[in-house]
Amino acid sequence: GMYLKAIELENFKSFGRKTRLEFKEGFTAISGPNGSGKSNITDAILFVLGPKSSKKIRAQRLTDLIYNGGKNGRPADYCRVSLIFDNRDRVLPLDEDEVKLTRYIKRANNELGYNSYFYINDEQARLQDFNSILIHAKIEADGYNFVQQGDVTRIVEMTPVERRTILDDIAGITKFDNEIKKAEDK
Ligand code: ATP
Ligand code: MG
Repeated sequence: GMYLKAIELENFKSFGRKTRLEFKEGFTAISGPNGSGKSNITDAILFVLGPKSSKKIRAQRLTDLIYNGGKNGRPADYCRVSLIFDNRDRVLPLDEDEVKLTRYIKRANNELGYNSYFYINDEQARLQDFNSILIHAKIEADGYNFVQQGDVTRIVEMTPVERRTILDDIAGITKFDNEIKKAEDK
């Protein structure tokens, strides 16, 4: 099936040097000391997948994701992350064995403080095209594809009703509940 083959990071958070991480099909574990950048790798994935949500990426502003120079280095004015998916099964709607989704932001003197660019297989793309590929693959940063630090504790400590809501959400039932409630309120 489709899987994430590699991630390329450039000036993303602690990755001030161009870095490529290769993954095999199946299960991958990343280990390392506290503060070494493990969660920054999942942040990089969310950065590409979830252009709308900087909250999940543990950043106040997207520009906080740009390499700040660390202790002695020079701060960068852009960051770039690419996700490279194996697409031999053609799960993603492109006739290519490999699909590379890239997001690039560059500091700018505008309201947001940056400009944002998207690329599909190295060609500049619109956010819409980018998102439609992700929808096909049923990947979303705001969904339950990602279980982050603290999420498990949160789920364990929830009330049964709250927990049930998550299951209903995944099953796609919540939207019917909302409609029933709307009808009842009338
Ligand atoms: P833990 O085991 O505690 O969860 P971790 O391996 O997940 O640790 P991360 O949270 O990925 O660690 O990395 C934190 C490091 O990233 C910190 O040292 C922090 O200074 C660095 N960092 C965060 N943002 C930036 C940035 N914009 N530029 C440079 N370094 C950054
Ligand atoms: Mg962490």
